[in-house]
Amino acid sequence: MTDTRQLDQEYIAGTYGRFPVTLVKGQGALLTDENGKNYIDMGSGIAVNTFGACDAQWVAAVTAQLQTLGHTSNLYYTQPQTRLAEMLCQRTGMQKVFFSNSGAEANECALKVARKWGEEHGGRQVIVTLKNSFHGRTIATLAATGQDVFHQHFGPFPEGFRHVTPGNQAELEAALAQPDVCALLMEPIQGEGGVEPLEGDYMALAEKLCREHHLLLMLDEVQTGNGRTGKLFAYMHYGLQPDVVTTAKGLAGGLPLGATLLGERVAKVLGKGDHGSTFGGNPICAAGACSVLARLDDALLQDVSTKSREIRQALEGCPGIKRVSGMGLMLGVATEHPAAEVAQRCLENGLLVLTAKDKVRLLPPLNIPWELLREGIVILKQNV
Ligand SMILES: *Cc1c(COP(=O)(O)O)cnc(C)c1O
Repeated sequence: MTDTRQLDQEYIAGTYGRFPVTLVKGQGALLTDENGKNYIDMGSGIAVNTFGACDAQWVAAVTAQLQTLGHTSNLYYTQPQTRLAEMLCQRTGMQKVFFSNSGAEANECALKVARKWGEEHGGRQVIVTLKNSFHGRTIATLAATGQDVFHQHFGPFPEGFRHVTPGNQAELEAALAQPDVCALLMEPIQGEGGVEPLEGDYMALAEKLCREHHLLLMLDEVQTGNGRTGKLFAYMHYGLQPDVVTTAKGLAGGLPLGATLLGERVAKVLGKGDHGSTFGGNPICAAGACSVLARLDDALLQDVSTKSREIRQALEGCPGIKRVSGMGLMLGVATEHPAAEVAQRCLENGLLVLTAKDKVRLLPPLNIPWELLREGIVILKQNV
């Protein structure tokens, strides 16, 4: 064991099952470990490094801001934060943004918006979410998360969450008809749950029922947002208009930033003192995000879809591969061998992939060069 791994074992809380590698540097979609071995990165730090490691344009945008003004707190106005909020609203049709530092926090804000809005609209408190979902690790977002495995040890949880089976239309209809419900929260593609997209019919029904019953449609796009699926946000594939969208992971291209986007119906729900964050939307993270968003243009998003098709074509029907799921550069590969073993063999052969449930999960940088993408796919095929 290397020194780093010994120290980790000695001093770091034992919450992570890490891959046996210490990464020391990176450039784009190539990462290097302490022994100088290179890896093709198809994980992007879990969909965070939108343009890969140490991308020159992103580094320039962030360092320029670092050298100008860093943290200020939200007691003052700052230019990068307001510029970013304007970009997000103009590209989504949403009206307001609340900035935080992570996906869980972005969802916490959405839950608070739903509760306050529900209070103002007939005293309704229940938020419906889906089984097999993942919404974060705080106590409230764990309560929202529809997987029992996350609910051991940490109770009691806050009340007011109900879980329905994804894809089951009758169950959704029954749940949303209850008079105490104020909102529906779901991921367009269940990421941690195994890269499982929701069907278009189901999404359309969800929107229709939310309108009929006067409920908030809230989408957790923490992982699917920021170009990952080939659209700026995944909901744009479905042609619907949510009331709340949360995002985080890829937004600032490698810096911690969460955003809760609020549509017309909830734009005025949060008032002074209702919510806050010391770090949220600080100039440095906001400058990183402005630079990322400015580059997520039609050509880049088109490229994401083209790369996605190429990966699918290369993998579908291959020996050892059962099925490919997902959208854009968020793909799940169901393999005959256990996904964790495949990921381990890939790592030994110079390719970093992730897993989600029983799938190998691919989340490469959106600008991964074709050559590295093709090389990575060959390594994956040799190791499934
Ligand atoms: C990762 C993730 C979260 C939690 O984000 P953190 O930044 O780890 O708090 C929430 N929802 C979804 C869909 C995610 O993928």
